[in-house]
Amino acid sequence: MHEFSVMSQIVEVILDEAGRRDAERVEHVNLDVGEFTFLGEEQLRFAFELLTKGTIAEDAELVISEKEGTVQCECGYSGKPEKPEDIHILTPLLKCPECGRIARVKEGLGCTVRDISLVVPDV
Ligand SMILES: [Zn+2]
Repeated sequence: MHEFSVMSQIVEVILDEAGRRDAERVEHVNLDVGEFTFLGEEQLRFAFELLTKGTIAEDAELVISEKEGTVQCECGYSGKPEKPEDIHILTPLLKCPECGRIARVKEGLGCTVRDISLVVPDV
């Protein structure tokens, strides 16, 4: 399950950051998921739940936003690609809607933790 390995890296980043700030609980996690990662939101949530069990991020609210993907083509086109036919393969080829060539991905790969909110005890 691809989502699981992606999420385990994300959870690691979150817990790392929380540890550095002496947080006692993680409240919110805002995650940007690139459109071309083709990760399933349900699977991501499920992985998040499993991976945070027993940690201070357990029960944190996970907010997932899809980040729109764009491509850049040799013909000069830049923007949305043609809809890929098979999104079940990991890296589908994205075609330029103008000329039909394979276009290079500009944005929309990868996941980014945009924001987390932590409960830090007052000292
Ligand atoms: Zn093109």
